[in-house]
Amino acid sequence: MIERIASPKRTKEILTKYNFIFQKKFGQNFLIDLHVLNKIIDSSNIDKDDLVIEIGPGIGSLTQYLAESAREVIAIEIDKNLIPILEDTLSDYNNVSIINQDILQVNLKKLIEERNDNKPVKIVANLPYYITTPIIMGLFEDEVPLESITVMVQKEVAERMQSMPGSKDYGALSLAVQYYSEPYIVANVPQNCFMPRPNVGSAVIQLKKYKEPIIKVSNKKLMFQIIRASFNQRRKTLLNSLSNQLDIEKNRIQEVLIEMNKSVSIRGEAMSLEEFAIFTDLLSK
Ligand code: SAM
Repeated sequence: MIERIASPKRTKEILTKYNFIFQKKFGQNFLIDLHVLNKIIDSSNIDKDDLVIEIGPGIGSLTQYLAESAREVIAIEIDKNLIPILEDTLSDYNNVSIINQDILQVNLKKLIEERNDNKPVKIVANLPYYITTPIIMGLFEDEVPLESITVMVQKEVAERMQSMPGSKDYGALSLAVQYYSEPYIVANVPQNCFMPRPNVGSAVIQLKKYKEPIIKVSNKKLMFQIIRASFNQRRKTLLNSLSNQLDIEKNRIQEVLIEMNKSVSIRGEAMSLEEFAIFTDLLSK
């Protein structure tokens, strides 16, 4: 077997050879734990037909495993200093393409059309934590053809994505993620699995995208405006949040809540995704 890039010894050798300086602004914390890498691969269900897109390959620690499991890997890395390193560390693999670009500027739909006949891809990554939410929401909202997203994120963020009404972590991110996908926390990952050690705990989460959203709503845009407004001012009632921020008449909000058999002093944090959808539909009537 080809030597593992992620072993602590090999990682140190590579960093020294290239005199690599970590850039904090890019959220660079490289994985140096082979068990965690195996866990990511096992949970992502990749097979030899798959095109996998990796966001932020670093020095190629995870990319190597992906290349050995998938048909093809496209890895998108913002840091130009990592490109010659990746060309060296991944030289044994002929199914990896590296793109030196900011993931938020890449037209993934076009890439998938050209490289995978528009068939859904799998996204696998140890994400840069400073842009976790825009990356994930961008993938869903832009309707990028994908089957699943298996990613390392900050532990707190993974918990928010999976939370249900009543929990302190429940919020707009939970509802947005759960509208598009079924989340499942695969593993918690301690700080010592990375170089350098991050200041926060991490977790691997898998988001299995629904083929069709399981919740039907007539005006999705309005529903998410309502959700955002309800959680912007978490301690306020839905009545006050929506009348203040979205300029909806208090009487109308009260009528809808009564029709739903809900208290007029309910807060957003007590409403499920399905209830936000019903509320939106009744309000739009
Ligand atoms: N995958 C590697 C690993 O597991 O060791 C590195 C993960 S590190 C947490 C995040 C990686 O994302 C870094 O290589 C960083 O340079 C890259 N990155 C940061 N911002 C990015 C962006 N906007 N677009 C693409 N890559 C980015």
